Amino acid sequence: MATDAAASQPTLTSDCENDAYDKRCIFCRIAKKETDTELLHSDEETSCFRDIRPGAPHHYLVVPSRHVGNCKSLGKEHVPLVEKLLEVGKAVLEKNGFTDLGDVRFGFHWPPFCSVTHLHLHVLAPASQLGFLSRVVYRLDSYWFITADQLLSRLSSLG
Ligand SMILES: [Zn+2]
Ligand SMILES: [Zn+2]
Repeated sequence: MATDAAASQPTLTSDCENDAYDKRCIFCRIAKKETDTELLHSDEETSCFRDIRPGAPHHYLVVPSRHVGNCKSLGKEHVPLVEKLLEVGKAVLEKNGFTDLGDVRFGFHWPPFCSVTHLHLHVLAPASQLGFLSRVVYRLDSYWFITADQLLSRLSSLG
């Protein structure tokens, strides 16, 4: 799969500010099990864990196990990777007893509105029960949050 090649490339230049903060990338460390964070899913390509500041009863982050820059730095070749992140997000939801996939928000923060440059998919459920702050932070059709579907169609439209 093209995903492996894409993921093993050196870190793409990030558009996020404060790159210095990411010298020891927290999500890389979590994926490598160097922290106490419990991994809900872990394989060669992807890892999943709970958001430390949950914005919904189910709030998971799915990340590539190897460092990939934020969604603005992705290209068409990353489509399979993004699809894989989504697939894992759905599987983890189901594993945790949430099956109404129509009531889930899957998406990414658009740079520079991401606190960690390591690509991470937010999975929030039920989307209908987001608190006030979460509705702002993970707002649809905003310039700081892009749904997984929107990202996929954007990537597919790239040359
Ligand atoms: Zn990383
Ligand atoms: Zn985020």
